[in-house]
Amino acid sequence: MKSSEISFDVIPASAVSETRLTICLKCAFDFFTKQLQLAPRTAYTELRKHVPEESDFNGASTARPHFFDGDALTHCPYCNGAKRWFAVFTAYRVDAHPAFEKERKKLWAALKKKEDRYTLWHPERTQMQIFSEWLERLKRATDFASDDWLLQVAVETIKRAAPSNDWEEVLQSGVQRVQLSRQVEGDWQVENRWLYVSPALYGDVLMIQHLLSRSQLHGGLTFEGRLTLQEFMKRLRRIGYFEARQIQGDDAYEDFELAIQRIVDSGPAAVYYAVDRGDYLEKLKSVYEKKRDK
Ligand SMILES: [Zn+2]
Repeated sequence: MKSSEISFDVIPASAVSETRLTICLKCAFDFFTKQLQLAPRTAYTELRKHVPEESDFNGASTARPHFFDGDALTHCPYCNGAKRWFAVFTAYRVDAHPAFEKERKKLWAALKKKEDRYTLWHPERTQMQIFSEWLERLKRATDFASDDWLLQVAVETIKRAAPSNDWEEVLQSGVQRVQLSRQVEGDWQVENRWLYVSPALYGDVLMIQHLLSRSQLHGGLTFEGRLTLQEFMKRLRRIGYFEARQIQGDDAYEDFELAIQRIVDSGPAAVYYAVDRGDYLEKLKSVYEKKRDK
């Protein structure tokens, strides 16, 4: 019987974040056999059930026997054990969007059939939390000292607003410029390495650039230059952003908050995790068999 191959490629890459977490099996076994004084066989049975938590994967409370950068390290940072003790868990986080929910459901149905290998989580998140986490990941991935950070952030914002499997092909030759266009069909269009976007999407890009640069560079730098909040809001109004997003306040701060709310509401509404334990279970078995046969 041939089992169908599982692939996350059916989901737009911009909606998937992958995290690799290493575990030291020497530390893990030692905990059960030395600290808890359990027989190797019992330790193995217990360890087979092990799944790191979300806080291990996102770095909030990554602790022994887990660590990052297992590919670069040659020895365990806790027990100095050699690399052959390392095993890797891969977490795939999907920020779900109606544009590809059908594909996501199908993939999850396939993953459910391999419950030994894949552990599935569906943690509770508000749309605002999902947006904040996305912004945080974008902030970490952005080099604010580089000349093209504005362009990179623009492309990521557009990918979030319009998730699609076509992006990889579109971006293969690179984007030279993001250009506001009132003639664009739909929200965006690519021509000769120029990415033309609607006033609504262009405004979203400026908003995200403004938010990031305010927190990272102590000022609101965007494609439109460095502007104060009042000037920035005037510029957005001139572009036709508020009209396009149906925001008609007369208070700049209120409009700004509403614009963020619109960006949040138009984005992903749910988070799904799949943790691949394939490498872990395989290495765990081989380590256990060597211990047993000794
Ligand atoms: Zn170790």
